[in-house]
Amino acid sequence: MLLKDHYVLLNVSVVDGYGGYPIENTFVEVRENEIAAVDSMKAYKKKPDIQEVDLDGYYVMPGLNDAHVHLAGGRGDFVYGETEVLAEPKMVRAMRSVYEAQKILKRGFTSVRDISWNGLYLKRIFGEGILPGPRVIACGPGLSRTGGHSDLFQYTEDYVKEQHFWGVLADGCEEIRKCVRRNLREGADQIKIWASGGDNWANDLNTDVHYTFEEIKTCVDEAHMLKGTLVCAHAENNEAINMAIDAGVDTIEHGEDLDEETAEKMVEKGIILVPTLGMLVNWFTDMMAIGEDAEKMIRPDVFLHRTVDQKQDEDYQKKVVQKTIDSFCLAREKGVKIALGSDTVYEPLTPYGEYSALELKEMVKYGMTVPEAIKAATLTAAEALGMSHRIGTIEAGKNADLLVVKKDPTSSVEVLYNPENIQFIILNGRLAVEEGRFAY
Ligand SMILES: [Zn+2]
Repeated sequence: MLLKDHYVLLNVSVVDGYGGYPIENTFVEVRENEIAAVDSMKAYKKKPDIQEVDLDGYYVMPGLNDAHVHLAGGRGDFVYGETEVLAEPKMVRAMRSVYEAQKILKRGFTSVRDISWNGLYLKRIFGEGILPGPRVIACGPGLSRTGGHSDLFQYTEDYVKEQHFWGVLADGCEEIRKCVRRNLREGADQIKIWASGGDNWANDLNTDVHYTFEEIKTCVDEAHMLKGTLVCAHAENNEAINMAIDAGVDTIEHGEDLDEETAEKMVEKGIILVPTLGMLVNWFTDMMAIGEDAEKMIRPDVFLHRTVDQKQDEDYQKKVVQKTIDSFCLAREKGVKIALGSDTVYEPLTPYGEYSALELKEMVKYGMTVPEAIKAATLTAAEALGMSHRIGTIEAGKNADLLVVKKDPTSSVEVLYNPENIQFIILNGRLAVEEGRFAY
């Protein structure tokens, strides 16, 4: 199909992104990159020189957004993980990240928030309109303390500083301030900080707090000086979550340790939770090496005293997973804003695109209705991206990021999970994907 600069999709059912069900007999008019009008077919009057596309029986909804991906371009399994990624040349990773982003777009995700160096440059390349790719909201590399979640102890500190793909090491308020300014200089739209550990290694337990309150506050204040710049904080334990909230961050990543008070505080301040449910509830089965694989892992014995009493048996795993589910359910119950974020990190562990779509299913599995999950992936994710003034809903004046779907996406979460149901993916008014193939 060829779409002109000014066209109208006729006789469609619209799922607007606000969490409701389809509105039938509607038209969506697009002029250049924007939605020009959305209204009932009864109100439709043909304008001169407009291209009419009759899509009777089809559904139109906003493009999906994934608020947590790493377009780092690496390849790693769960035995070697990040160490494998770090060993490859930066250029290889940069080029591979184009493929990763394109795979995400093909599953209907028209915007992503990326945490890696590559996002800073992918956003320019895709923005030029030469290659099809999603709109990238770039955090650039996240801020990690030395010896934190984004440090790789298997390499020397110098090598890590030189080669890291999704992090920079920053300690103390002055270094943090400088790092934030450097990221912003390079084109970052948001700032990511690891307020807690993330369980990649023994000095990185997710029960550990990794920055002081003053350090997180400095990061937030510095980022917020450039108005509209949001801060997302990786925080997996209650203490870190509370510190991040009090320091004024805009989104909490993972956040699987909420209690009532913390959830209420998030509601009050309008802070968004990006629960990365799929990754967390499947952590022990999909993300951890077990048995023989675990033996092969590069884990220095020197750190063993930290975990020597921690038996990660089935009981322990069940408890951890249940806590994650309970925390998510509590957030939903209390009315915390929840945005979809998959934490796709590298293949083959987390297949790009598929893993984003999987998160929709996980959110429904653990209690959301399908329209709620769609809202989490459209309007609320757009808010997490700091872009809800431009994307996330179908309204006149917003960018025309649209999915044309063959079946009612609110009828079952399987509809959006199966890419065969997506007829067209339109990005900025331009046809980007037609039946699974790039249109340019
Ligand atoms: Zn992540």
